[in-house]
Amino acid sequence: MSFSREKLTNDLSQLVIEKRAFINNEFIETKNTFSKKSPIDNSLIDKISACHTEEIDLAVYSANKVYQARTWIDFSIEGKKSIFLKLAELMRKNIYELSLLDCYETGRSFKNYYEDSIPKAIEIVEWFTESIDKLIEEASPSNKDHLSLVQRVPIGVVACITPWNDPLVPALWKIIPALLAGNSVIIKPAEQSTFSILKIAQFLKEAGLPPGVFSVLPGPGDITGKALAYNSEVRGIFFTGSSEVGKKILKYAGESNMKRVGLECGGKSAFIISDKTNKLELAAKTLAKNIFYNQGQICSAPSRAFVHITLFQEFLSILTEEAYNFTPGHSLDYASNVSTLISFEAKERIEKMLKDNENDYERAIIVGDKNLTLNSLPPTILVNVNLKSPLYSEEIFGPVLVLNTFTYIDDAITLANDSEYGLAGSIWTDNLSEALSCSQRLEAGIVHINSYGEDDMSVPFGGFKQSGIGKDKSLHAFSEYTQLKTTWIKI
Ligand code: NAD
Repeated sequence: MSFSREKLTNDLSQLVIEKRAFINNEFIETKNTFSKKSPIDNSLIDKISACHTEEIDLAVYSANKVYQARTWIDFSIEGKKSIFLKLAELMRKNIYELSLLDCYETGRSFKNYYEDSIPKAIEIVEWFTESIDKLIEEASPSNKDHLSLVQRVPIGVVACITPWNDPLVPALWKIIPALLAGNSVIIKPAEQSTFSILKIAQFLKEAGLPPGVFSVLPGPGDITGKALAYNSEVRGIFFTGSSEVGKKILKYAGESNMKRVGLECGGKSAFIISDKTNKLELAAKTLAKNIFYNQGQICSAPSRAFVHITLFQEFLSILTEEAYNFTPGHSLDYASNVSTLISFEAKERIEKMLKDNENDYERAIIVGDKNLTLNSLPPTILVNVNLKSPLYSEEIFGPVLVLNTFTYIDDAITLANDSEYGLAGSIWTDNLSEALSCSQRLEAGIVHINSYGEDDMSVPFGGFKQSGIGKDKSLHAFSEYTQLKTTWIKI
């Protein structure tokens, strides 16, 4: 399957895009709007709803009303399944349009969305939907004359705040299990990626979701997101984004009604290559793919690599060669694996960070043409970075890899764990004991042995330390959006 750039450009220009907030199963005009630029060509995208107090109050009121009426909680399991399977069907029918919308707003290559991200988003909906009638509750023989039922019950009105780097995947990781569990859900998508989730709202309405159960409130984080996190009728706030904003969410929850908080935040994940590996080429290819894909704008990207000193030169030369496969192209060119950063401002921020700290590394290897496309950066490898440098410790969220050496594996583990983040990690070795010992000691929510970036709906996703609190994906996700209730029955 392939599409010409002319066709994609033409079809994008013909799209009628819904930019209004979605509340109570209606798209509504808001008093305030915001505008931005498409990272593809810096063209203006304007008149996007910005929800302030009036719209937030309406959405929370509608969500709470339907929750209190138990309309959605008591909806039959078959009914819920049929709505969400219909949603998946509508998404599948509209993969092309969803991919165009996400590409237009984020600049990530159309091909990435069409072949990878949107199919994954559909799988999320189907996987969670198929699992809801397989969640069995507990009955405990607490005493000989009592039986106690332990059941999962919803939290109430739940708000989700999501990022732009993959507009639908992290959003659906949250909203689908939250909705299936019986909550009323309000989502505030990132300002940079609003349109595909509004499309999901349209599909859910079409599929038969009752009014009030799901709302989409576009708007700025420090207005719309903050107000939702402070709202005392919202009982849970589930956030994916930077650790900096994650900390604010904790504060807002504590200063309002102690709502439940779930956080999926940033990372600075480590990738360790031991001298006991004979998979050097595969390791270098895997590293290049995972750090340079989507211009490095992936929370779990392995942005710090530690290579055994004896393998360093060989590893670096394979890695550099491989990085050429991830040089950026035009977002609408189907041959592009990688295209733009989220914005010109993001490019400027990363360039400034590199310039401000240019004495903090031995050398920088810049792969390919420096100015290949608008708003893009070439894959960049920083060799032997000072451990005190912000380049080493902070999430750059761009195609920039820190590559350092080590002599003893224990030192590599110490370096890997010397981070406030703990999202993912990887160890490459053919020695089973070394692999398992490293995996046990790595302070990360996800560890890969001789691999990286594996993804499967059956396992949880989430980090340790400042990479987050709680888990997305898998059956464990239902625990995030439910609370356990015990009912005693006298026999
Ligand atoms: P961000 O933290 O700037 O914004 C995330 C969301 O929070 C957006 O919707 C934004 O509008 C909102 N927001 C901003 N300020 C707010 C405030 N004061 N109150 C409430 N909401 C507010 O992050 P981003 O730039 O959109 O995304 C990139 C970050 O997301 C990176 O740090 C990345 O690692 C992280 N991320 C994590 C995961 C994960 O699963 N761990 C997945 C994707 C992205």
